[in-house]
Amino acid sequence: MRRRRSAIFFLVLGICLISLAVALNVGWILLNLREVALLVLGIVFFALIITGLTLNTVFLLREIRRNEQHDAFINAVTHELKTPIASIKLYLETLKTRELPDEKRREFYDVMLADTDRLLGTVEQVLQAGGINERNRGSQFSEIDLGKLLNETIRLVKTRYNLDDAAVRYSVPAEDITIVGDQDELQSAFTNLLDNAVKYSLEKPKIAVRLKSSAMNKADVYIKDSGIGIPPSDLKRVFKRFYRVTHSSGGPKGTGLGLAIVRSIIVRHGGRVGVESKGEGKGSTFWVQLPRA
Ligand code: ADP
Repeated sequence: MRRRRSAIFFLVLGICLISLAVALNVGWILLNLREVALLVLGIVFFALIITGLTLNTVFLLREIRRNEQHDAFINAVTHELKTPIASIKLYLETLKTRELPDEKRREFYDVMLADTDRLLGTVEQVLQAGGINERNRGSQFSEIDLGKLLNETIRLVKTRYNLDDAAVRYSVPAEDITIVGDQDELQSAFTNLLDNAVKYSLEKPKIAVRLKSSAMNKADVYIKDSGIGIPPSDLKRVFKRFYRVTHSSGGPKGTGLGLAIVRSIIVRHGGRVGVESKGEGKGSTFWVQLPRA
């Protein structure tokens, strides 16, 4: 709130200064009509001032927005770390202080394991995001059967979220589609996309994954969900680091890192990634295009 107010203050200040400079410029021109050389010099001078002021205001606003995103990110990560730890602590305390039947005990262990997975996931995302800009750091490129890799990723995500077979539909072409890349990185990218498809489905997920070959020796992967969707104005921004959509209904929590990691991995593999959605509540389709081997 305080930042927003200071942003508005600087915006108004910037506009006032620009108006003043323009007024001075015009007045000056009128007073010095005859002195052409000075006139030209003056115009250049004032144009420079105006450009400087505009740039200054734009940079200031951008910096304030970035700071806001950082704060939101720190809050989100703290929340993502604190919630599973608090839950594990509670279960451990219950296990320590109470005699529980075996079945209940096993149920508690399962919840604690799921919480540990969530913790590990968050830590891994933060670590991966830290290295986002390091090019080809230790990547192990080899030939990969993309159909098999997707199948394996879907299987892992299904197990993780206890999904039945109907939750994820998968269609592959008859031919094998081979690409050259880093198995672990690509798996992590597709896991992130599938995780999001489940997470932003809210109710029972209905996800369709499709692999097909396209023109110019490319492979296309579509991951379609029928979840909460993305407003048109946010479609381009969701791939930015720390960016999170503010959904009218609140929506699930997260760090805003997943899609930035996905994009950096796909770009490193010479591919492209994007998203289409008809708007809030209308599901989203993420697509990935990779060059074939
Ligand atoms: P996180 O999920 O941790 O917030 P991501 O980078 O994975 O971070 O996603 C960025 C934003 O994009 C999310 O906050 C969410 O609003 C939006 N988003 C991502 N995937 C989906 C999806 N499948 N459906 C709707 N919104 C999505």
